[in-house]
Amino acid sequence: MPISRMDLADARSPEALVKRILQAEPSLPVPVPIQELCARLGILRIEDLDSNAFEGGLVTDAKRSDGIILVKRGGEPRRRFTIAHELGHFLMAHHVPDQPGRFLCKNSDMLRLTAKEGDQRQRMEVEANRFATLLLMPPHLLRGAMAAFRECDLEHVLVLARDFAVGKEAAARAYVQYHPERIAVVVAGNGRVQRCYRSLSFPDIICGVGSPVPTGSLYHSTPNRPNTASAIAACSSDLWIDVKRDLRAPTLYEQVYVQPNGFAMILLRLEPVPEESAEERRLEEGWRHRFHSGRR
Ligand SMILES: [Zn+2]
Repeated sequence: MPISRMDLADARSPEALVKRILQAEPSLPVPVPIQELCARLGILRIEDLDSNAFEGGLVTDAKRSDGIILVKRGGEPRRRFTIAHELGHFLMAHHVPDQPGRFLCKNSDMLRLTAKEGDQRQRMEVEANRFATLLLMPPHLLRGAMAAFRECDLEHVLVLARDFAVGKEAAARAYVQYHPERIAVVVAGNGRVQRCYRSLSFPDIICGVGSPVPTGSLYHSTPNRPNTASAIAACSSDLWIDVKRDLRAPTLYEQVYVQPNGFAMILLRLEPVPEESAEERRLEEGWRHRFHSGRR
């Protein structure tokens, strides 16, 4: 592995850093050898972190002479994400820890995808997560892997998680982002919506975080067969999205994957509206408009 920190030059953003890493290591294998990359990029060692409060940490100085990554014991995919996240803090010199010389990151930091405006701490966590995601699932390798998939299916998420050695939720986020169809993945825990990931064209999900998974969802009727995704089935689209009362409801499909720990992923796919019916809808809308505006 020829890469060194010289190759990163003055790259500051997660995207610029990962771009330089991929340029210096054009034949990076999958799963990405994150520990080897750390060793090449100034991390002296990776130690276990004994803490219930924190998922990971980084001991370093303001100049980033070198660093030690701390990572909580646990499954390999989770540890890999934490290590990549801490490497991100290390390589982004504008990241400043709460305590001098020591970053400590919670599980909620590892899940953070957006930051409140003006909140520097949150912004650093979002950047470290973007870095970890891009590095562990480099876009060109992810696109290559996804080119083999046809109709969307949660089984593909499981394949990505296995091949890239990342968590299922991280794989689901990437899948939703790179898939060409209108899809979303809802992460449920203990019967409630925990997190939702939508493709750009998927409408807002009406079940907010913390609300129960709708009773009509396949989630409640699917047989609990851990480690296997359910069949894909049509559902009533108003379970998950806002359907205008007087418009034809789009067809929505659900697929469920239940994990033994009580967490589940629910894949939602919206059928594209055929051109013909889009035209019919425009005609219908035109008719309603005339009717409501009282014109004869
Ligand atoms: Zn962090």
